Amino acid sequence: MRNPVQDYLEQIVEQCGAAGGEVAAYIPELAAADPDRFALCLATVDGQVYEVGQAEHRFSIQSISKPFTYALGLHDQGVETVARKVDVEPSGDAFNEISLAPGSGRPKNPMINAGAITATSLVAGDDEDDRFGRALDWFGAFAGRELEVDEGVYGSELATAHRNRAIAHMLREFEILEDDPEEVLRRYVRQCSIAVDTRDLALMAATLANGGRQPRTGRQLLEAHLVEHVLSVMTTCGMYDAAGDWVSAVGMPAKSGVSGGIIGVLPGQVGVAVFSPRLDAHGNSARGVALFERMSRDMEMHLMHVS
Ligand code: GLN
Repeated sequence: MRNPVQDYLEQIVEQCGAAGGEVAAYIPELAAADPDRFALCLATVDGQVYEVGQAEHRFSIQSISKPFTYALGLHDQGVETVARKVDVEPSGDAFNEISLAPGSGRPKNPMINAGAITATSLVAGDDEDDRFGRALDWFGAFAGRELEVDEGVYGSELATAHRNRAIAHMLREFEILEDDPEEVLRRYVRQCSIAVDTRDLALMAATLANGGRQPRTGRQLLEAHLVEHVLSVMTTCGMYDAAGDWVSAVGMPAKSGVSGGIIGVLPGQVGVAVFSPRLDAHGNSARGVALFERMSRDMEMHLMHVS
């Protein structure tokens, strides 16, 4: 028997066809992506996964790593220590803006690069390999499988990371970073280069929807009280300078990445992920945004929805 959720997803994918937009080109390796690849996955908190399109096509996670790195920083250091280093205010700026608070240098939030580089520095470990290994294991635990780095994307991004390098050194100057900024930059770029598929992302989102417990493995990864902090900054800051439009039109915590992914979290219910590499002017997947708007409307997913 056909499943109504599966039928619905297939139908909206057909109706919300190719939106415009361009593939990100500032990371050379990303410019080579096939702009018309597509996948949509929905994972429920009880571990059901629905898929449309190329759900197992892998791509680098990019900025969708940010909420998970922030989560690991909170898990390792606690809310107060993290809050001293990075704020939770929407910046209204683009993702790569060099926006540090005057005087303190504290980044506005962990969803823009300055704040995400700071969150990366808060991951505990003995040395660079140990700290990165912990992050890779953490991401894998959310996805429910072992993940690896796309070394091609890593090399390509690190070689051209002038802006992120400048941000890391500014953060060191303000003593927001306390150690070698190059070490933190390498780990930040490596995290962004972790290869995932759309199914992984839906399960990572569903783990947040499920209060920090991975729906399929049953492992409690992130303390439930910290999930709230992560979902809050995703709501206010996850879609960069389009966060206000997103909250109005879609109304759920979300995070996008320049490789073309978007995750959305409906607390207590589902994690959703879309992959489509053509980006709009804010750097968010154009078809991804269109699909989320549609799903939110049809399925009354908007958190502020009153029926
Ligand atoms: N690695 C990318 C960068 O730092 C991530 C940006 C993004 O996905 N928006 O520029």
